Amino acid sequence: CGQCVAYCPTGALAIRNDVDKVYKAIEEGKYVIGMVAPAVRASLQEEFGLEDDVAAAGRMVSLLKMIGFKKVFDVAFAADLVTYEEAHEFIERLEKGEKLPQFTSCCPGWVKFAEQYYPEYLNHLSSVKSPQMALGAIIKRFYAKEIGVDPKDIFLVSIMPCTAKKFEAEREEFQGDVDVVLTTREVVKVIKSTGIDIRTVDPEPFDRPFGLSSQSGLSFGKSGGVLGSVVNVVDEFIGIKNLETKQLSEGVRLTTLELSNGKVVKAIAVFGLGNTRKIVDSIKTGELDVDIVEVMACNYGCIGGGGQPYPNDVRTRERRARILKEVQSIDVLISPTENFHMLQLYEKYLKKPLSHEAHEVIHTHYKHRRRVQEEEIDILPLPEESED
Ligand code: SF4
Repeated sequence: CGQCVAYCPTGALAIRNDVDKVYKAIEEGKYVIGMVAPAVRASLQEEFGLEDDVAAAGRMVSLLKMIGFKKVFDVAFAADLVTYEEAHEFIERLEKGEKLPQFTSCCPGWVKFAEQYYPEYLNHLSSVKSPQMALGAIIKRFYAKEIGVDPKDIFLVSIMPCTAKKFEAEREEFQGDVDVVLTTREVVKVIKSTGIDIRTVDPEPFDRPFGLSSQSGLSFGKSGGVLGSVVNVVDEFIGIKNLETKQLSEGVRLTTLELSNGKVVKAIAVFGLGNTRKIVDSIKTGELDVDIVEVMACNYGCIGGGGQPYPNDVRTRERRARILKEVQSIDVLISPTENFHMLQLYEKYLKKPLSHEAHEVIHTHYKHRRRVQEEEIDILPLPEESED
């Protein structure tokens, strides 16, 4: 093949169809763009003896460029954007007292579960797209114009800890904004197939403008991260006087917030679909009264995703959570509201949170699914709940 032949021995590329698609796009001269989810950088190290290397993501950026990627962006940027939008959606619902509790919707495993089993709650899900799909839409609608490339010539590769993200990218409402999703395991194979020792590669930062992110954006990689980020934004816009957190059981954490306007808000972060079923059923019967719920289908959130390397046990997930925390701690931006490039995106294109423009590009809707389609089962099952 063309440029990639230097790094990819023939045959090593035939890892699976999705990987082949990436190399085909490079060969065809497409403008290949990568985007990397927060949780990937916490597990990539496991396969390369890069334990505790906070520059692992930067080394991956360099290596993907060597293969032929033109740009590599950070999905944590889009996590900032999604948080900002979702927090405003929550504030609006709180003020109006409608569609509460608000459920997060960035986990496609949970969204699909809700569409199949809890259709009566679909309008309670945040209508903001997941970070993957929001960034995909922004790149194809706005960024393509800025760089003067036809969106049809852009090939967008999303690198995710998650098998359910493949299904999400193929949903008809997203119009193919993301061309292919590679899991962490697949991207590890791609890196290994180059024959380059990633430990020797100098790290480089994610490309601008979608390379900047806050600690909040990075926290999307683990359970509780989305909720914590929304709370940060609520604190800035309304103010929080008191905050108390209580672990109710394994995978279920309750946070009680006393807002400056006197309102008391109850927030739950839950992981695992078994736990989720119990929580949603308790909300249905009125046993549980909460205002906002974060749901992550995988244990510990995306760090324990179905596309992550093996083993994917409790010990490994705890180590990934620690690594992600270290990566977060060296980020100088704390809240999405400090993300200059995100604010610029509003200034130039989206105007303000929940605007008509924002709804057009980064919001979506959900539909009742009576049963899982057969082709969906082939592409991906719901994420593994646990291998513990
Ligand atoms: Fe995917 Fe699991 Fe993360 Fe949900 S929690 S987005 S299914 S990796």
